[in-house]
Amino acid sequence: MLIGVLALQGGFAAHVRMLRGLGADVREVRVAADLEGLDGLVIPGGESTTMTLGIEREGLAEPLRSFGRPVFGTCAGLIMLDREHLGMMDIEARRNAFGRQVRSFEADVEISGVGGPPLRAVFIRAPWIADHGDDVEIVAEVDGHSVAARQGEMLAVAFHPELGTDTRLHERFLAACNGR
Ligand code: GLN
Repeated sequence: MLIGVLALQGGFAAHVRMLRGLGADVREVRVAADLEGLDGLVIPGGESTTMTLGIEREGLAEPLRSFGRPVFGTCAGLIMLDREHLGMMDIEARRNAFGRQVRSFEADVEISGVGGPPLRAVFIRAPWIADHGDDVEIVAEVDGHSVAARQGEMLAVAFHPELGTDTRLHERFLAACNGR
């Protein structure tokens, strides 16, 4: 299985390490040609304005929209997937939603469809999902705010599952990529 990690900016290296640790072949994606032959793609956290500029500079918006395979967006990656950015999910992300004072925190998050104990999730200047369409399933909440969503083969989480040792979300993503 060959998984791409968008590597224009941000926290791509930890995703690469975690995916390789789970046995996947991984390619860092920087230009449209890098999307060829991938079974799935991770869009990592980082800074969404900078990432948007990188996507524009490389002409990646259309190739990403027509990618057609599972995509896993984390933190700024969730923002990239929303209506205002790539429009690959029918969600509206609110940036830095937990407030500038609370730049970062951890929480135990119950994720629908993921068995076992709650996931210890790291939030870093995280967004939340302020609005979503009928085709979107919200799969996790923190303090009543939506922090993870699924829509078809798209999965977006507001936190950083690549930091730490809990690999369950990456395992589920790989299973979705493999299911094709
Ligand atoms: N606050 C960042 C943004 O709006 C996202 C933070 C992150 O990806 N850790 O782009």
